[in-house]
Amino acid sequence: MNVLVLGGTGEARRLASALHDRPGWVVTSSLAGRVAVPSLPPGDVRVGGFGGVDGLRRWLREKGVDAVVDATHPFARQMTAHAVQATTDTGVPLLVLRREPWQAGPGDRWRRVPDAAAAAALLPGLGERVFLATGRGDLAVFVGLDRWFLLRAVDLPPPPLPTRHHLVLGRGPFTADAERALLREHRVDVVVTRDSGGVMTAAKLVAARELGLPVVLLDRPPAPDVPTVATVDEAVRWLAAR
Ligand code: NAP
Repeated sequence: MNVLVLGGTGEARRLASALHDRPGWVVTSSLAGRVAVPSLPPGDVRVGGFGGVDGLRRWLREKGVDAVVDATHPFARQMTAHAVQATTDTGVPLLVLRREPWQAGPGDRWRRVPDAAAAAALLPGLGERVFLATGRGDLAVFVGLDRWFLLRAVDLPPPPLPTRHHLVLGRGPFTADAERALLREHRVDVVVTRDSGGVMTAAKLVAARELGLPVVLLDRPPAPDVPTVATVDEAVRWLAAR
């Protein structure tokens, strides 16, 4: 069983760990190569884009891949679209492993928006000091806004960045205590983040709730119409059934 895991997430690493060393299984994890020092899964790892749908199709055929698990981040829209197209073209089964979205609880002051532009449009009514935790892909939308931004990234994000900002380098998981301290230290009025789901980065939502801060939550892109599971165990069962 030759499996390609499209990764870059904790779930992808845990799936690779679960499949690693199983007799008769060959598992390759694929990373985009966005961060300088990635958290590596066990087993074979390849790094860098495939070269679009054509490149992925070629890779699947050349390596004789039996199944693909798309365990990329819920906002990695392009990689998922390419995986759907390339597996459809080659007839290789595809499973999407995607953690559940976050759910608001008592005390949460969340505003859900469809995209970063809608989040930026809401900000003038919500505060001056913004913790912008959307990932570097969405930064450009906020650059022209006359607001102060707290940014956090694993590596230094490329320009353009908002004129008034403070950058913190860091990689999850984060604790609620540390997130509360960060929000207090920088006198944050409002948090903007993507609905990534999962526990690695949920602590900022807990901290925002405790401090009574509003959160603007970017909704996920539409899910592809393919078999989808939310946990690593389900993904292992799906693969084992093939
Ligand atoms: P994206 O916009 O969907 O993908 C852009 C291009 O990057 C893809 O067309 C592909 O290039 C390459 N790529 C993406 N993921 C890849 C993978 N796992 N293996 C090989 N190539 C990959 O993706 P993104 O939002 O920039 O995210 C990049 C990676 O970071 C993903 O692996 C994702 O899981 C991880 N990540 C993303 C976020 C986020 O907020 N988006 C957060 C945490 C982790 P080619 O067309 O050349 O194949």
